[in-house]
Amino acid sequence: MKAARLYGVRDLRVEEIDAPKPGPEEALIRIHACGVCPSDLRAYTGSRSGGPGGPGLPRIPGHEWAGVIEALGAVMADEGAPSIHVDDPHREPPLAVGDRVVADWRFVCGRCYQCRRGVFNYCENLRRGVRGGFAQYGIAPISQLRRLPDSVTFEEASFCEPLACILNAHAGTRIDVGDDVAIVGTGPIGLLHLQMALRRGARVIVSDPIAARLVTARELGAHDVIDASVVDPVERVKELTRGRGADAVIVAVGAPEPIGQGLQMGAINGRVQLFAGTYPPVDLPTDPNLIHYRQLVVTGSHDFTPHHFTTALKLIQHGIIRVIPLISHRFDLDDVREAFETTANRRGLKSMVFTA
Ligand SMILES: [Zn+2]
Ligand SMILES: [Zn+2]
Repeated sequence: MKAARLYGVRDLRVEEIDAPKPGPEEALIRIHACGVCPSDLRAYTGSRSGGPGGPGLPRIPGHEWAGVIEALGAVMADEGAPSIHVDDPHREPPLAVGDRVVADWRFVCGRCYQCRRGVFNYCENLRRGVRGGFAQYGIAPISQLRRLPDSVTFEEASFCEPLACILNAHAGTRIDVGDDVAIVGTGPIGLLHLQMALRRGARVIVSDPIAARLVTARELGAHDVIDASVVDPVERVKELTRGRGADAVIVAVGAPEPIGQGLQMGAINGRVQLFAGTYPPVDLPTDPNLIHYRQLVVTGSHDFTPHHFTTALKLIQHGIIRVIPLISHRFDLDDVREAFETTANRRGLKSMVFTA
């Protein structure tokens, strides 16, 4: 099969290699679409760990993918209860070869301290059973698959993972009907946050220094857009909220300046969600009085739970969240490097790679 393998910093090669074989309880998937995620990009540019020179290379990046089941590995007999069921074994037939699916890469154990308290996104035995998105074939544990409704395309389904992360963040951000919400950064993630906040009944203000992104934000329903390359977004949010600031702020960019802006935008009793990781890590010079005297709740969010993933697919299926407007570039697998460079240079929005 054709696969893109990462050998080092910005060294991504499309090669002909053997297709993987599914082990017990695993499926071989003919991958159709895989999105380029910021975390893939950090491995590609070496920004997370000072360079991907460590063990595990070369490896096939990509975790936001969907495709068709090509083969199933052996299924362990389990007291007459077949394990190849999707979420609700009482309503859905077992998954079979030819089914269209999307894979949730976070394979949680269900037994550790964090899983048992329902905090699945911090499973202590997390396994990366879903492998290799930028390739013609990939492997996933059968239990990690969700069947795609006919109306959901592969490229739409590949948004389940980022959208699941958004759902996790919104649980902590507590947006209420009529809240003023400010979103700092309107890349693909910011635009998902925008739509989620709108569905929660909020009035949404977005800010970004890239004008083209603000056009998409408007089309998706943003009430007010701020071009941060010409206007101070903190001042503008205050103006738009009668000096009060935003009841909830989502900072969708991992960098000191937007995080500082997000804290200053928060209204009294406001919630400030730091959604993005910051690489390389930095110290944040912030006046703590800002948080103390305004009773700000500063929160973060990381990854998602299995239910968030299931819900994300549902939101896409019913058009509650629109993901197609977030795709700005489409590439064939042969041009995967161009897809990564496009995202690295912040050209457009989401880059989608087609492997079929
Ligand atoms: Zn991702
Ligand atoms: Zn666990």
